[in-house]
Amino acid sequence: MESCIFCRIIDGKALAKIVYHDDSVVAFEDLHPQAPTHLLVVTRKHIASLREAKAEDEPLLGHLFTVAAQLARERQIDSKGFRTVINNGTWAGQTVFHIHVHVMGGRAFHWPPG
Ligand code: AMP
Ligand code: ZN
Repeated sequence: MESCIFCRIIDGKALAKIVYHDDSVVAFEDLHPQAPTHLLVVTRKHIASLREAKAEDEPLLGHLFTVAAQLARERQIDSKGFRTVINNGTWAGQTVFHIHVHVMGGRAFHWPPG
């Protein structure tokens, strides 16, 4: 999708600091980090949000989370605790409509998130 910034990053048409990629997911640094570590893990397949995900996407979504956990281990934010977030829809704060997991760590987080 030409109009989607994350598709453009995946296709190498927009710049991002890519930290991991494989056949089905790509991870990069968030442009406006909200924590000392703030990565985004995205599917290469354009899925707008969890709302649009289908049963056939289950292995892909599972992989998205295991990669998120692997990156948290590599960044050593896993032992103290890290947050994984998917915002779905405008009321949840979603601004980029291409499914992505935020992986955040390096500081304490509050609950509920507000
Ligand atoms: P969300 O609000 O959950 O849709 O998250 C979108 C995230 O994408 C925000 O944290 C933005 O800072 C981040 N973001 C937007 N554009 C870019 C970009 N070009 N490169 C990296 N991160 C971006
Ligand atoms: Zn996209």
